[in-house]
Amino acid sequence: TETTENRPFEADVSRLLHMMVHSVYSDRDVFLRELVSNAADACEKLRYEAIASPALLGDDPRLAITIAADPEANTLAIADNGIGMSRDEMIEALGTIARSGTRGFMDRIAEVEGQDGAKRGAQLIGQFGVGFYSAFMVASKVEVVSRRAGASEAWVWASDGKGEYSVAPVALEEAPVRGTRVLLHLTDDAKSYAERWTLERIVKEQSGHVPVPITLVEKPGAEAASLSDGAALWTKSKSDISAQDYTDFYRSVAGQYDEPALTVHFRAEGRFEYTALAFIPGARPFDLFDADRKGRIKLYVKRVFITDDAELLPRYLRFVRGVVDSADLPLNVSREMIQDSPLLGAIKKGVTNRVISELAKLAEQDGEAFGKVWENFGAVIKEGLYEDFERREQLLGLARFKTTASGEGTRSLKDYVAVLRENQTAIYYIAGDDAARIASSPHLEGFRARGIEVLLLADPVDAFWVASGLDHEGKPFKSVTQGAADLGLIPLLDSDTPPPAEASAEVTALIAAIKETLAEDVADVRASDRLTDSAVCLIAAESGPDRQFERMLAAAGR
Ligand code: ADP
Ligand code: MG
Repeated sequence: TETTENRPFEADVSRLLHMMVHSVYSDRDVFLRELVSNAADACEKLRYEAIASPALLGDDPRLAITIAADPEANTLAIADNGIGMSRDEMIEALGTIARSGTRGFMDRIAEVEGQDGAKRGAQLIGQFGVGFYSAFMVASKVEVVSRRAGASEAWVWASDGKGEYSVAPVALEEAPVRGTRVLLHLTDDAKSYAERWTLERIVKEQSGHVPVPITLVEKPGAEAASLSDGAALWTKSKSDISAQDYTDFYRSVAGQYDEPALTVHFRAEGRFEYTALAFIPGARPFDLFDADRKGRIKLYVKRVFITDDAELLPRYLRFVRGVVDSADLPLNVSREMIQDSPLLGAIKKGVTNRVISELAKLAEQDGEAFGKVWENFGAVIKEGLYEDFERREQLLGLARFKTTASGEGTRSLKDYVAVLRENQTAIYYIAGDDAARIASSPHLEGFRARGIEVLLLADPVDAFWVASGLDHEGKPFKSVTQGAADLGLIPLLDSDTPPPAEASAEVTALIAAIKETLAEDVADVRASDRLTDSAVCLIAAESGPDRQFERMLAAAGR
């Protein structure tokens, strides 16, 4: 049809747009990063599709992004000659919210609102895949003209962001030969986004490392000036890359605004050759505890983006961001085939080993920096203790714990075994949800009185790995809330305290009375050298789940 069609936004989009305009305000620069990143994604998609269908590139094989400002008209256009969108794709992509993460986004925004909400909210946009709509933070009207690669029709999408958008066919002369042009009619308070200096600054800061060249046209008719050459940072040699380059690249690949806590950049040579550039974020990504536990490492083949869906790292390293580029896969490999290729296995192994060994190095050389990494990601890394048996020892070596002896800091198992008491046969722990509460548990009395250190485990994942039967340097992990304490052979620190009066007649009589009263409610009642001040505590049977694990199972209804 030749008529303009008006359609309402999906309800969630309307809500989101309202929030964008009214609360996610202070850090509006991000809109440009989002639109440039969409343009770059579109170019990368075409680059990939053109492997199988080279004709899609026509006589315009050089993929590029052009930012064109018009200070007089107060407009800004971001154009790419990438894959483009058909009418249906436009309606799907620019009228709905495709990714499931968006609910999470809205909840998060609501959560951070009020505090330093505006700024943090803006920073969440890129992580949640709702970038396009951020255009409405600076524009009163947005027009998107797009022609899909290979198509003989073009479409224009337009909206003022207030509940509705329109789609209409557009004459081919008015559309780009291929790809998409997003035209923003800037609001009065966003005029500076049509100025060269502002645009240069923001693009260099936020998009200097997108793998597609970016040029700027300062005003209509002016010559295009290059802002960024689109070279792939990871292919350069380390000595040519500054710390700032790495940070900028990290930010664009991770969609985060923090500093990377650790950068791992290496070339693997030998049977399989590939380059990896991986970062450990300085802050937790918001999808860290999502149920799908997916990673987001991007896989490239000879600089062509293939997928960010290949499992390039184990789940317990899902917070690592970055790229892997290999020349060893055929370019026309299907995304499905990749998952089964031996190269992928080699990459996974190689990158995992490297990330873990770099973490170990950091732990040795800069305890404070490593402490922050562990604070952010330790709870996730510990999943590896029961999922990656081969690397258990290494992962245990990285683990840091709050213990009865750690004070404000943390302790490693190496620290722990260095101060074992004589005759101590186990590494003791207590698990629970609340670090402060478990630290004051009566179960610890007898251990404290003997100077035996106890690990205080307060992450939900802890109940699982301690139950998986691992040990360290021949010492099993043992819950202080389970089974016999066996502390009789370890002397009290304060030798004046009398030994436990297990054998006395009064105790025997008391135990008998308690047993009779509680009858079926308990399996056993016994004197214990676990306690020094408290009268009684509950413990779990020697085998089976400990008290914390019992509670978790009960909470899960089992
Ligand atoms: P995301 O990029 O995370 O998917 P966005 O809100 O930024 O989320 O974009 C939504 C979708 O709109 C993209 O996934 C893409 O399908 C489409 N899109 C946006 N900009 C372009 C563009 N320049 N070229 C082609 N498709 C685009
Ligand atoms: Mg996007």
